[in-house]
Amino acid sequence: MLREDTVFGPIRSRRLGNSLGINLLPREGKLCNFDCIYCECGWNADGRGDAALPSRDDVRMRLEAKLSALLRESVPLDSITFSGDGEPTLHPDFPGIIDDTLALRDRYCPETAVSVLTNATRIQTDTVFQALRKVDAPILKLDAPTAELCALINRPAAGYDPAAVVKAMERFEGNFILQTMFLRAPFFDSSEPGQLALWMGIVRKLRPRQVMVYTLDRPAPLQGLRAFSARELEILMQPLVDEGYNIQIRA
Ligand code: SF4
Repeated sequence: MLREDTVFGPIRSRRLGNSLGINLLPREGKLCNFDCIYCECGWNADGRGDAALPSRDDVRMRLEAKLSALLRESVPLDSITFSGDGEPTLHPDFPGIIDDTLALRDRYCPETAVSVLTNATRIQTDTVFQALRKVDAPILKLDAPTAELCALINRPAAGYDPAAVVKAMERFEGNFILQTMFLRAPFFDSSEPGQLALWMGIVRKLRPRQVMVYTLDRPAPLQGLRAFSARELEILMQPLVDEGYNIQIRA
Protein backbone atom coordinates (compact mmCIF):
# COMPACT_ATOMS: atom_id res chain seq x y z
CA MET A 1 0.00 0.00 0.00
CA LEU A 2 1.73 3.20 -1.11
CA ARG A 3 1.19 6.20 1.18
CA GLU A 4 1.87 8.95 -1.38
CA ASP A 5 1.51 11.87 1.03
CA THR A 6 4.67 13.21 2.68
CA VAL A 7 2.74 13.70 5.93
CA PHE A 8 -0.11 11.24 6.41
CA GLY A 9 -2.55 10.25 9.12
CA PRO A 10 -2.74 10.15 12.01
CA ILE A 11 -3.40 6.44 11.73
CA ARG A 12 -3.93 3.88 14.47
CA SER A 13 -0.74 1.80 14.55
CA ARG A 14 -0.72 -1.57 16.27
CA ARG A 15 2.79 -0.83 17.48
CA LEU A 16 2.92 2.94 18.00
CA GLY A 17 -0.58 4.06 18.91
CA ASN A 18 -2.00 7.20 17.29
CA SER A 19 0.72 7.88 14.78
CA LEU A 20 1.33 10.71 12.33
CA GLY A 21 3.38 9.34 9.46
CA ILE A 22 6.18 11.02 7.55
CA ASN A 23 7.02 9.55 4.17
CA LEU A 24 10.38 10.84 2.91
CA LEU A 25 10.18 8.74 -0.22
CA PRO A 26 8.76 9.57 -3.65
CA ARG A 27 5.08 10.48 -3.44
CA GLU A 28 4.24 8.10 -6.28
CA GLY A 29 6.54 5.15 -5.85
CA LYS A 30 8.65 3.05 -3.54
CA LEU A 31 12.35 3.56 -2.84
CA CYS A 32 14.22 1.05 -0.74
CA ASN A 33 17.56 -0.73 -0.73
CA PHE A 34 15.70 -3.83 0.50
CA ASP A 35 12.94 -5.57 -1.43
CA CYS A 36 11.39 -7.65 1.34
CA ILE A 37 9.18 -10.57 0.39
CA TYR A 38 6.55 -9.27 2.85
CA CYS A 39 6.74 -5.54 2.06
CA GLU A 40 3.32 -3.93 2.26
CA CYS A 41 4.44 -1.46 -0.43
CA GLY A 42 4.93 -4.32 -2.91
CA TRP A 43 8.01 -5.12 -4.98
CA ASN A 44 10.43 -2.31 -5.80
CA ALA A 45 9.94 -3.05 -9.49
CA ASP A 46 6.22 -2.30 -9.15
CA GLY A 47 6.82 1.19 -7.74
CA ARG A 48 5.45 3.72 -10.15
CA GLY A 49 8.78 5.32 -10.88
CA ASP A 50 8.42 8.87 -9.54
CA ALA A 51 11.93 9.46 -8.19
CA ALA A 52 11.37 12.95 -6.76
CA LEU A 53 11.99 13.16 -3.01
CA PRO A 54 10.31 15.85 -0.90
CA SER A 55 12.71 18.63 0.04
CA ARG A 56 13.66 19.32 3.66
CA ASP A 57 11.70 22.61 3.53
CA ASP A 58 8.68 20.87 2.07
CA VAL A 59 8.69 18.26 4.86
CA ARG A 60 9.05 20.93 7.54
CA MET A 61 6.23 23.09 6.15
CA ARG A 62 3.84 20.18 5.70
CA LEU A 63 4.59 18.83 9.16
CA GLU A 64 4.16 22.22 10.80
CA ALA A 65 0.81 22.77 9.06
CA LYS A 66 -0.40 19.35 10.19
CA LEU A 67 0.81 19.64 13.79
CA SER A 68 -0.74 23.08 14.05
CA ALA A 69 -4.09 21.75 12.78
CA LEU A 70 -3.99 18.76 15.14
CA LEU A 71 -3.25 21.06 18.06
CA ARG A 72 -6.22 23.27 17.15
CA GLU A 73 -8.45 20.20 16.94
CA SER A 74 -7.03 18.73 20.19
CA VAL A 75 -6.15 15.46 18.46
CA PRO A 76 -3.82 13.41 20.69
CA LEU A 77 -0.70 12.04 19.07
CA ASP A 78 1.45 9.22 20.45
CA SER A 79 4.11 9.26 17.76
CA ILE A 80 5.43 11.15 14.76
CA THR A 81 6.70 8.21 12.76
CA PHE A 82 9.09 8.07 9.82
CA SER A 83 7.92 5.16 7.72
CA GLY A 84 6.19 5.29 4.36
CA ASP A 85 7.09 3.91 0.98
CA GLY A 86 10.62 2.70 1.52
CA GLU A 87 13.68 3.43 3.63
CA PRO A 88 13.64 6.91 5.21
CA THR A 89 17.39 7.11 5.88
CA LEU A 90 18.04 7.07 2.13
CA HIS A 91 16.86 10.68 1.98
CA PRO A 92 20.03 12.82 1.70
CA ASP A 93 18.68 15.37 4.21
CA PHE A 94 17.51 12.78 6.73
CA PRO A 95 19.64 14.21 9.61
CA GLY A 96 18.41 17.77 9.03
CA ILE A 97 14.81 16.61 8.71
CA ILE A 98 15.13 14.84 12.05
CA ASP A 99 16.37 18.09 13.63
CA ASP A 100 13.42 20.01 12.15
CA THR A 101 10.97 17.36 13.32
CA LEU A 102 12.30 17.36 16.87
CA ALA A 103 12.05 21.17 16.99
CA LEU A 104 8.45 21.10 15.72
CA ARG A 105 7.56 18.30 18.11
CA ASP A 106 8.95 20.33 21.01
CA ARG A 107 6.91 23.35 19.92
CA TYR A 108 3.55 21.70 19.17
CA CYS A 109 3.37 18.40 21.05
CA PRO A 110 6.28 17.88 23.46
CA GLU A 111 4.74 14.69 24.87
CA THR A 112 4.76 12.97 21.47
CA ALA A 113 7.53 10.51 20.60
CA VAL A 114 9.49 10.75 17.37
CA SER A 115 9.96 7.26 15.93
CA VAL A 116 11.93 6.03 12.93
CA LEU A 117 11.28 2.67 11.30
CA THR A 118 14.46 1.80 9.45
CA ASN A 119 16.00 -1.28 7.90
CA ALA A 120 19.26 -0.22 9.61
CA THR A 121 21.31 -0.45 6.44
CA ARG A 122 22.65 3.10 6.88
CA ILE A 123 23.41 3.14 10.59
CA GLN A 124 27.10 2.76 9.78
CA THR A 125 26.99 6.29 8.31
CA ASP A 126 27.80 8.56 11.22
CA THR A 127 25.33 11.36 10.39
CA VAL A 128 22.51 8.82 10.15
CA PHE A 129 23.60 7.15 13.39
CA GLN A 130 23.75 10.50 15.19
CA ALA A 131 20.28 11.44 13.91
CA LEU A 132 18.83 8.14 15.09
CA ARG A 133 20.43 8.64 18.50
CA LYS A 134 18.39 11.85 18.88
CA VAL A 135 14.94 10.36 18.33
CA ASP A 136 12.83 8.74 21.03
CA ALA A 137 12.32 5.46 19.23
CA PRO A 138 14.91 4.28 16.70
CA ILE A 139 13.32 1.04 15.48
CA LEU A 140 15.97 -1.02 13.73
CA LYS A 141 15.12 -4.02 11.59
CA LEU A 142 16.93 -7.34 11.70
CA ASP A 143 14.83 -10.16 10.26
CA ALA A 144 17.36 -12.98 10.22
CA PRO A 145 20.76 -13.75 11.73
CA THR A 146 22.63 -14.80 8.58
CA ALA A 147 23.45 -13.17 5.26
CA GLU A 148 21.99 -16.16 3.42
CA LEU A 149 18.59 -15.78 5.05
CA CYS A 150 18.56 -12.01 4.77
CA ALA A 151 19.22 -12.43 1.06
CA LEU A 152 16.07 -14.55 0.79
CA ILE A 153 13.81 -12.50 3.06
CA ASN A 154 14.98 -8.91 2.55
CA ARG A 155 16.49 -9.23 -0.94
CA PRO A 156 18.95 -6.41 -0.16
CA ALA A 157 21.00 -4.37 -2.58
CA ALA A 158 24.53 -5.73 -2.92
CA GLY A 159 26.85 -5.47 0.04
CA TYR A 160 24.43 -6.02 2.93
CA ASP A 161 26.15 -7.85 5.77
CA PRO A 162 23.98 -8.47 8.87
CA ALA A 163 27.08 -9.12 10.98
CA ALA A 164 28.35 -5.61 10.19
CA VAL A 165 24.90 -4.17 10.91
CA VAL A 166 24.79 -5.94 14.27
CA LYS A 167 28.24 -4.51 15.02
CA ALA A 168 26.93 -1.02 14.19
CA MET A 169 23.87 -1.63 16.38
CA GLU A 170 26.23 -2.11 19.33
CA ARG A 171 26.98 1.61 19.17
CA PHE A 172 23.43 2.30 20.38
CA GLU A 173 24.39 0.65 23.68
CA GLY A 174 20.96 -0.94 23.93
CA ASN A 175 19.05 2.32 23.55
CA PHE A 176 17.05 1.23 20.52
CA ILE A 177 14.17 -1.03 19.56
CA LEU A 178 14.97 -4.15 17.59
CA GLN A 179 12.26 -5.10 15.12
CA THR A 180 12.01 -8.58 13.66
CA MET A 181 9.40 -10.02 11.30
CA PHE A 182 8.47 -13.64 12.03
CA LEU A 183 6.99 -15.54 9.14
CA ARG A 184 6.81 -18.86 7.41
CA ALA A 185 7.85 -19.02 3.78
CA PRO A 186 8.29 -22.03 1.48
CA PHE A 187 12.06 -21.79 2.05
CA PHE A 188 12.21 -20.42 5.58
CA ASP A 189 10.57 -20.57 8.98
CA SER A 190 11.54 -18.01 11.63
CA SER A 191 10.90 -20.58 14.35
CA GLU A 192 13.49 -23.04 13.01
CA PRO A 193 15.51 -23.82 16.18
CA GLY A 194 18.98 -23.18 14.75
CA GLN A 195 18.08 -19.80 13.28
CA LEU A 196 16.05 -18.82 16.33
CA ALA A 197 19.00 -19.60 18.60
CA LEU A 198 21.30 -17.43 16.47
CA TRP A 199 18.77 -14.57 16.51
CA MET A 200 18.36 -14.84 20.28
CA GLY A 201 22.14 -14.76 20.62
CA ILE A 202 22.13 -11.42 18.79
CA VAL A 203 19.39 -10.10 21.08
CA ARG A 204 21.43 -11.11 24.13
CA LYS A 205 24.51 -9.44 22.71
CA LEU A 206 22.75 -6.17 21.82
CA ARG A 207 20.39 -5.98 24.80
CA PRO A 208 17.95 -3.59 23.08
CA ARG A 209 15.57 -1.75 25.39
CA GLN A 210 12.70 -3.39 23.54
CA VAL A 211 12.26 -6.12 20.95
CA MET A 212 9.28 -5.80 18.60
CA VAL A 213 8.32 -9.16 17.20
CA TYR A 214 5.62 -8.99 14.58
CA THR A 215 4.18 -11.07 11.81
CA LEU A 216 2.23 -10.70 8.59
CA ASP A 217 -1.01 -8.80 8.82
CA ARG A 218 -1.33 -7.53 5.27
CA PRO A 219 -1.09 -9.05 1.80
CA ALA A 220 2.54 -9.68 0.83
CA PRO A 221 4.08 -9.48 -2.64
CA LEU A 222 5.37 -13.07 -2.39
CA GLN A 223 2.66 -15.71 -2.39
CA GLY A 224 2.73 -18.58 0.10
CA LEU A 225 3.82 -16.68 3.22
CA ARG A 226 2.11 -17.53 6.48
CA ALA A 227 1.82 -15.62 9.74
CA PHE A 228 2.41 -16.84 13.28
CA SER A 229 -0.33 -16.62 15.88
CA ALA A 230 0.20 -14.45 18.94
CA ARG A 231 0.30 -17.60 21.08
CA GLU A 232 3.00 -19.18 18.92
CA LEU A 233 5.12 -16.05 19.22
CA GLU A 234 4.60 -15.91 22.98
CA ILE A 235 5.89 -19.48 23.29
CA LEU A 236 8.89 -18.77 21.06
CA MET A 237 9.77 -15.61 23.01
CA GLN A 238 9.33 -17.09 26.48
CA PRO A 239 13.08 -17.71 27.08
CA LEU A 240 13.84 -14.04 26.43
CA VAL A 241 10.88 -12.92 28.55
CA ASP A 242 12.16 -15.14 31.37
CA GLU A 243 15.54 -13.43 31.10
CA GLY A 244 13.90 -10.03 31.59
CA TYR A 245 13.82 -8.72 28.01
CA ASN A 246 11.05 -6.33 27.04
CA ILE A 247 9.35 -8.21 24.21
CA GLN A 248 6.41 -6.65 22.38
CA ILE A 249 4.47 -9.10 20.25
CA ARG A 250 2.19 -7.84 17.47
CA ALA A 251 0.18 -10.53 15.73
S1 SF4 B 1 12.79 -2.49 4.43
FE1 SF4 B 1 10.66 -1.89 4.72
S2 SF4 B 1 10.16 -0.58 2.97
FE2 SF4 B 1 12.05 -1.68 2.46
S3 SF4 B 1 11.34 -3.47 1.32
FE3 SF4 B 1 11.55 -4.08 3.49
S4 SF4 B 1 9.52 -3.78 4.38
FE4 SF4 B 1 9.57 -2.66 2.42
